[in-house]
Amino acid sequence: MESERRIGSFLKSIGASGHSAERKKLWLVTKTYFHTQIDEHLHGSLKRLQQDYVDCIYMHRLRDPKLVASQQTKEQAERLKKSGMTRFFGFSVHDEPVVECLNAAADTDHIDVIMFRYDCHYYPKSDLMAAIEKCHKKGIGLVAMKTGVGGMTLPDRYDPFRKRGLSQYESTLKAVALDPRIHSICSEMTTTDMVQQNSNALSTKASLADLDAIKEHAELVSHLWCRGCDHLCREASGAGRNLAVADSLRFLMYHDHYKKEEWARDLYQRLEPEQRDLYAIAAADWQSAERACPYHVPVGKLMQRVRERLA
Ligand code: SF4
Repeated sequence: MESERRIGSFLKSIGASGHSAERKKLWLVTKTYFHTQIDEHLHGSLKRLQQDYVDCIYMHRLRDPKLVASQQTKEQAERLKKSGMTRFFGFSVHDEPVVECLNAAADTDHIDVIMFRYDCHYYPKSDLMAAIEKCHKKGIGLVAMKTGVGGMTLPDRYDPFRKRGLSQYESTLKAVALDPRIHSICSEMTTTDMVQQNSNALSTKASLADLDAIKEHAELVSHLWCRGCDHLCREASGAGRNLAVADSLRFLMYHDHYKKEEWARDLYQRLEPEQRDLYAIAAADWQSAERACPYHVPVGKLMQRVRERLA
């Protein structure tokens, strides 16, 4: 909310409001967790942004493919667009079921834009690739987010972009930008250095052969990358429904690969006690969990490391 207020003041100061020429140069979006009361949220956002309309509103962090396809969502999308408060309507999806949400959207006519977690590690995931293709053919705008994937990816020999002076972060951004089905990337830029990195990545020349090299690498490291579908491995492990496997592995990634050790430990400690129950971790059947993991992530070894580094 505070960021909307600040952005609103700035936009007003440069004359980007109403339907002015300056405003039309911008692509302005907002999002809400309140998937069934969007009108109310959007009114508040427009007031804070000091705008008459946004270009898109997302139902944020959607998890239910049935909601994508529902009559309620269809009516809401049509009503909001007709009111002129938004030009387009969409949703964001972070965790599973990404594929099901994308497929559900492609089967409707009321979803214009989807923002979803996507980086080069997902290339070997054929059902996701098919869902992206389906949305692309349907004409749905696709926005990738969380494209920077941490320090373990893209060793030099598989990274054609680093030879051209791009950093690891820039390389992973470039890999997604090369995908012709992705229309935009939601990329955090909180410093001028980050603005420069984003600009470097997008302005560096690359070919589809470069993309093939990245895909080859993605196949090789696919098993190191957890996608957050922990209902699968947790159930197979018998660890009980409360153990936070995916969150623990995400925090371990922050610790090991982003090198944000203190922050990672802090996030882990903020989990509820039953979500980080050391007894449950020790007693779980991780071999069965690994067999249930569609990506063959060595989840037992990684949970052991969670105990050593974060607990
Ligand atoms: S370890 Fe595998 S099954 Fe478990 S959350 Fe990660 S990717 Fe999904």
